[in-house]
Amino acid sequence: MRSFSIARRRMVDEQVVARGIVDQRVIDAMLKVPRHKFVEQALEGKAYQDAPLPIGEKQTISQPYMVAVMSEALALAGSETVLEIGTGSGYQAAVLALLADRVFSLERIPFLARRARIVLDECGFGKVNIRLADGTQGWQEMAPFDAILVTAGAPEVPQYYLDQLTVGGRLVIPVGDRESQLLLRVTRTGENEYQEEQLLGCRFVPLIGNHGWQERS
Ligand code: SAH
Repeated sequence: MRSFSIARRRMVDEQVVARGIVDQRVIDAMLKVPRHKFVEQALEGKAYQDAPLPIGEKQTISQPYMVAVMSEALALAGSETVLEIGTGSGYQAAVLALLADRVFSLERIPFLARRARIVLDECGFGKVNIRLADGTQGWQEMAPFDAILVTAGAPEVPQYYLDQLTVGGRLVIPVGDRESQLLLRVTRTGENEYQEEQLLGCRFVPLIGNHGWQERS
């Protein structure tokens, strides 16, 4: 719809480009993916606002700027195999589908995994592979990955992710306490060598699982 594409253009201009995102492929991808389809219909009108939004099950779709920062940090050229932890709405997976060759995404909540599958198919992103599982152990059968993106906050970097990166591969992950984290990029520079960069402060819902946080009732 026309009004949504205008809102989307404004979102990209004001929240993504104006704040320093320069990767043209990320910019183009965010201009293409219909973000309003990935939120509940009642929130459609807010889909292009500068904020995360609830998607049910106490989870959120990330703020557009955060999606842009994380996507850019993965430095994708188009031929990569990527793993996302935390499918949620499926929005970030759709952006990744336009940036990389193969996209795998893990989600632990059945309702969210099911709904993301439907929306991704409706929007033409059938190539995204979703699996219902605790993603704190990565996805061994599909490894190695050129890039791994974790969209929930972890208490520390799980060793599984480091092991499942290709040499040269990038892991982008929020690490900290349950309420606030630091977004890190870890690059596997050799078989047993990793380089860590701190990107920015952030607030994600917790990564819950065996090698993450415990679920709270
Ligand atoms: N990338 C999502 C944002 C999702 S919010 C989007 O674009 O909408 C974080 C998601 O991580 C939630 O859906 C939550 O259920 C999921 N999650 C948390 N811990 C997880 C785990 N151990 N394995 C898989 N998914 C997990």
